[in-house]
Amino acid sequence: METQQTIADLRRALAPLRDGRTIGLVPTMGALHEGHLALIEAARAECDVVVASLFVNPTQFGEPANLDGYPRDLARDERVAAVAGVDVLFAPSAGELYPKGFATWVVPEGAAEGLEGEHRPSHFRGVATVCVKLFELVRPHLAYFGRKDAQQLAVVKQIVRDLNLDLEIRAVPTVRDEDGLALSSRNARLTPTERERALAIPRALATRDPARARTVLVEAGIEPDYVAVADLDGETLAVAARVGETRLIDNVLL
Ligand code: AMP
Repeated sequence: METQQTIADLRRALAPLRDGRTIGLVPTMGALHEGHLALIEAARAECDVVVASLFVNPTQFGEPANLDGYPRDLARDERVAAVAGVDVLFAPSAGELYPKGFATWVVPEGAAEGLEGEHRPSHFRGVATVCVKLFELVRPHLAYFGRKDAQQLAVVKQIVRDLNLDLEIRAVPTVRDEDGLALSSRNARLTPTERERALAIPRALATRDPARARTVLVEAGIEPDYVAVADLDGETLAVAARVGETRLIDNVLL
């Protein structure tokens, strides 16, 4: 595996690989876990070349504290990605993707409205903009996204459709811990008691019913941002809730 940190080096590394081989892209923010590995595995299974990106995208964070506190360990992620079978890891700096004077945005409507879009204003503007940039830089045939972030998946599919981008989006099922909690880089921030309480989220989703799901959460002392059924690449029961200081999202396809 090779790691590239600049756009110029990424382009140089990918040029000789564009010889008819299928290129798959797995966009991540790093702190790689089994959820990310499932995406890489899916890419490995149907692509000749797997490119993973590792970029804590500042424009999709609302609160600076969340951005600053995001776990970063490039050396560890490089080892994990190499073992998982990534060929090229793209790990640019924020300045590389957003140089001084950057002023062009992709602003999705439709699937980006409501749920996360309502609770995290401009979140999907950041997601959409960085995804279009990554798609253009890597020019993959396929890009892999987790169902864990179901609204993000729906937004990305909408962008590809609406802007006629020449790639296919693949959805990968949510990977969960043995206790049912969806894997997330944010889980590391939960105290043992908070983690216990967070298990109400998968329990709530198992009811497959928004009213009953809300009751399960409230009884566990969790006040959700939302519990809603929406068409997110399929009829989905989606939940967002803060457990202590940590905001978690999860969903189940109905
Ligand atoms: P992140 O690094 O959190 O931005 O996630 C990068 C990609 O991994 C996104 O497409 C996520 O939906 C996906 N992902 C994160 N957690 C999981 C999980 N537990 N199961 C499946 N995919 C996941």
